[in-house]
Amino acid sequence: MLAPGDQASTEFSLTVLGSDGSYPGPGGAGSGYLVKAGGHCTWLEAGPGTLANLQLHVPLDRLDAAVISHCHADHRSDLESLYVALRYFLGRRDFPLYAPEELQQVMRDEHFDGTFDWRVVSDGESTQLGPVRWTWRRTDHPVETMAARAQMDGRALGYSADTGPAWDFSELGGGLTLALVEASLATGNEGLVQHLSARQAGAAAAAAGAERLVLTHIAPPVDKSEARREAEEAFGGPVDVAAVGRTWQV
Ligand SMILES: [Zn+2]
Ligand SMILES: [Zn+2]
Repeated sequence: MLAPGDQASTEFSLTVLGSDGSYPGPGGAGSGYLVKAGGHCTWLEAGPGTLANLQLHVPLDRLDAAVISHCHADHRSDLESLYVALRYFLGRRDFPLYAPEELQQVMRDEHFDGTFDWRVVSDGESTQLGPVRWTWRRTDHPVETMAARAQMDGRALGYSADTGPAWDFSELGGGLTLALVEASLATGNEGLVQHLSARQAGAAAAAAGAERLVLTHIAPPVDKSEARREAEEAFGGPVDVAAVGRTWQV
């Protein structure tokens, strides 16, 4: 039985702030998620439009850290707006920002140091953020890109970030209670670029033994109903499609 206050300390949730693949579609947003765990708030991916949606769920002075998988604009462009908010309106310095080294190199010329406390993540590393243990694995993508496993107690979120099929989603480890996997491509376009189709996302999540699958990073021209159907066939069970404002408990 839960005692008063236990609900907040055991919460482990994923809220979608944006889920469009590679560019935002009409009224949509790039990649962005809020991971809340035990009152600790991490902004995972800062794609275009996601800073605005983030603030519907948590005020910026309550945000604890940001985690960015790679330097492509659809995952990080709103960091520039976060910088303006923190530096000129909230007076906040040394905001923890976890990302591959390449992101820091891309943004170095813009003098973000001092506002952001850059923390470089690399393949195989783990970091504790509040009650959550984050572990990063490098994926199959043209720039250094980190998939993530976020674990709290016996629950684990596996996030593919952007990847082609040459990286094995199972590298995030077993026991995933929720898999958030990119499905950028229509099946007919498999292999054209380093991304997955919904069919490949479903097969990857099944091979990893994930309990549940949420598709994300679907490109705006791709039919979401068809993507879901193909993923369910490959996954062997029900599949959800990420949409702005939806929340799942991990
Ligand atoms: Zn992307
Ligand atoms: Zn990318």
